[in-house]
Amino acid sequence: MPFEGDNMMGVKRTNRSAALHILHECGSMSRKRLSESIKLTPAAITKIVGEMIADGLLSEGSPLPGSGVGRREVMVELNARARAALGIFINLRQAFVSAVWLDGGVIFSESFTLPERAPAEETVRMLCERLGALAAANGLEKEKLLGVGVAMRGVISPDGRAVHNSFGALDERDYPICERVEALTGLPCVMSNNVRALFAAQMFLSREPELGSQFFLRCEAGIGASFSIGGRIWLGSSGQCAEIGHIPVVRRGGKSCSCGKSGCLETVASPGAMLRDARELLSDGRSEVLRRIMRGRGAEDMTIEDVFEAARSGDAEIAALVDRAAATLAAALKGVIYTLDPGKIVLYGRMFENPYYLSKLIAEMREGVDSGHNVPIEKSRLNHKLEDRAAGLLVVGDFFDRGGLA
Ligand SMILES: [Zn+2]
Repeated sequence: MPFEGDNMMGVKRTNRSAALHILHECGSMSRKRLSESIKLTPAAITKIVGEMIADGLLSEGSPLPGSGVGRREVMVELNARARAALGIFINLRQAFVSAVWLDGGVIFSESFTLPERAPAEETVRMLCERLGALAAANGLEKEKLLGVGVAMRGVISPDGRAVHNSFGALDERDYPICERVEALTGLPCVMSNNVRALFAAQMFLSREPELGSQFFLRCEAGIGASFSIGGRIWLGSSGQCAEIGHIPVVRRGGKSCSCGKSGCLETVASPGAMLRDARELLSDGRSEVLRRIMRGRGAEDMTIEDVFEAARSGDAEIAALVDRAAATLAAALKGVIYTLDPGKIVLYGRMFENPYYLSKLIAEMREGVDSGHNVPIEKSRLNHKLEDRAAGLLVVGDFFDRGGLA
């Protein structure tokens, strides 16, 4: 274990960072309460608050009504509109460009449909140009902008600067996306995997002071996850912690997966897998109930809601397919519960909005689990509200961690 001291600048950064985080979590506070919360002397708090007011990051509110004796306490709060961050979020066949204030408030957001294996350079150039145009149209001057966050599907290079494998989102491997975004926008860039960025945004915006450990599961086209301890995302020794979507669950004859392997959890339990299997049943002329639900529409227009509706309405083959998907996902999550013992599991994604599916999944997860492992499972209260904030919040999180210093 390395033992290292910290110089004055490091101490200053740590103290300012604690103040920024706590003011974001709790809203306005007096200097006295702030000093109690982050365990610094009142003199130290007066100094750092004074500096951050001078930087424009904090502002003073009205004095608290006092007893009329002595000095009245003045509230201090984060000046959320002091700075802004831009973001690029890249999913499979979909992207967002957006901007957020320091509290995660959305300034603008625009979504794009991309082709599968979108040409990397052309796509990033187009997104950066649009980002620049929207920032200008919204009056965001360059001095106010902290940088660009990139939330990217797939595996990021160890130095966090290139996308090693986007699993079909972009057509190039090891594409140096941070370098390109910096060259195209003239702003510094930070990057994270898209699921981790969503999870970081979930933790930032939920403003829970005691985060403990959490497991965040996101299901859209595929299955992604992320794990945190004390509000910090745990990356794992290879940087791929919580990649449960790619646990091999089918030994022989598994369907091919976006990662290049076959038989991964994602190929059985993701919404994309359920849709693929349901379409196969339809093309074989089976699944009468689903066929009735789909009357007048092509199989390519089928949504996961149609699949759940057919299962709920008594389509035996579709119900079996959904049961298998839920049971396989639940088995993987039970492995997570017994291995990591997280404080809670947070579910994020469209399919968790469906009560039929959600109750099935939760029942499967409780099956055979003793009361000592009854981990709370909750659907994110921010379901579908994070895609337009997560990328920009990567920059804000980084800025807060640096104590609001360059
Ligand atoms: Zn896979």
